[in-house]
Amino acid sequence: MKINVNYKDFTASYLFSDIAKRVKEFKENNPEAQVISLGIGDVTQPLTPSVLKALHKAVDEMGVAESFKGYGPEQGYAFLRETIAKHAYLDRGIQVSAEDIFVSDGTKSDIGNFQELFGADCRIAVTDPVYPVYVDSNAMSGRAGKWTGSQWSNIIYLPCTKENDFVPELPKEVPNCIYLCYPNNPTGSVLTKEQLKVWVDYAKANKSIILYDAAYEAYIQDPSLPHSIYEIEGADEVAVEFRSFSKTAGFTGLRCGYVVVPKKVVGYDDEGNTFSLKDMWNRRQTTKFNGCPYIVQKAAEAIYSPEGQEEIQALVKGYMANAQKILATLKDMGLQACGGEHAPYIWITTPNNMPSWDFFQLLLDKAHVVSTPGMGFGLSGEGYVRLTAFANSKNVDEALKRIAKVLA
Ligand SMILES: *Cc1c(COP(=O)(O)O)cnc(C)c1O
Repeated sequence: MKINVNYKDFTASYLFSDIAKRVKEFKENNPEAQVISLGIGDVTQPLTPSVLKALHKAVDEMGVAESFKGYGPEQGYAFLRETIAKHAYLDRGIQVSAEDIFVSDGTKSDIGNFQELFGADCRIAVTDPVYPVYVDSNAMSGRAGKWTGSQWSNIIYLPCTKENDFVPELPKEVPNCIYLCYPNNPTGSVLTKEQLKVWVDYAKANKSIILYDAAYEAYIQDPSLPHSIYEIEGADEVAVEFRSFSKTAGFTGLRCGYVVVPKKVVGYDDEGNTFSLKDMWNRRQTTKFNGCPYIVQKAAEAIYSPEGQEEIQALVKGYMANAQKILATLKDMGLQACGGEHAPYIWITTPNNMPSWDFFQLLLDKAHVVSTPGMGFGLSGEGYVRLTAFANSKNVDEALKRIAKVLA
């Protein structure tokens, strides 16, 4: 068979496999070293009691003929879609219909798959640095152009650096699809409602759509910041919103997320006819997806009970205490660092303009701490590394102590 040649251009392997390779090498050469990972963005705290209780109950239901569930609706069970609409949106004064919510096995799949609805010649814009899935999934479909050694020729990059306070400027060329992620992975930056409105207005004026990744909305501390793009007027005409239970409720291993595709969001054919993205996504999902497991959807529903809410707020609070400690301690050491206030990520400027892979290696070799080199998230990530707050507080203390020694 002939291969999809777009895969040939993937010189860069998945960032986290490169990191894993270097960590493995280090551990082989230093078997006695206690390596602390503040690298990959995976949670460390277990599932909460309400979630476990709902899971167990659902498992038992599956073992009884009367309550057994086979194939469920591809869009997700109504009980979960309605619970999400009520608690995540309507109760906060945000208009989202349960009808427009599609439950899935997580946001990586949703984001990776959503580009199937885009035309082959759609132009994509991403903030830089960026969560690699937006770029790579488009590159696999041939929409990214040629790999030039550091960037793709056909992708519109929106640099986010300390020079612009990590807030992207509007692009010079008009993209058809704009990926935004706030609170941001990897920089930990946020957008105010006013800043987000600039993008919604831009998308409306240019018939573009916004793919809004809100995986970290639960980490927002300032009540004036938007949790959802639908808090911005007109966003329901131009934006699709992705949300995940992974970072909110420790579901990285259990797997559940959802995407909101409002019925007013449309795309166009060459003749300018409009097509509902919601209908297209529904068609795509019913063809290629058979639903998130019933037991997992029951577990997700339990997050919205009063106890469930209390439990996951405690989870987030714990991670955010780590984030604040990391941020404050690094600043005390004289490093430039940001993020960590509304996101579990701290974005550090490397000392003395050190390349990000070199600083990564220094932290690994000398402090036995795993970070993520900013370069792995894009060209504008050069000169930065990311630390995550997803660790227990003892490990955070120990890691910070070691980093302080190395930099002293
Ligand atoms: C972790 C993360 C997700 C969530 O992915 P899941 O597949 O739901 O686990 C989505 N977007 C970003 C930017 C993330 O960092």
